Amino acid sequence: MSPFPEGAVGPVRTCVGCRVRASQSELVRVAWDGAALVVSRTAPGRGAWLHPQKTCWQTAAKKGAVSRGLRAPVPATVVLELADEVCGA
Ligand SMILES: [Zn+2]
Repeated sequence: MSPFPEGAVGPVRTCVGCRVRASQSELVRVAWDGAALVVSRTAPGRGAWLHPQKTCWQTAAKKGAVSRGLRAPVPATVVLELADEVCGA
């Protein structure tokens, strides 16, 4: 018996934007390095996971979900700027 949902590979995380659960391989991890929001699977500290879809980032920015997930004061504009980098402007 696999502990993971059928079709998922590896650990499952929840997208902080749309709140849908997905395997890590389908999501992008962001972390707060103290001054900037970075996309990294290996950055230390808390991470927040998002689909590489702009709607998820927009929802997360609007709800402050990234700040909450990272316990850091991440401005919505910073989340949206990174969304442009990750998802394309
Ligand atoms: Zn999502």
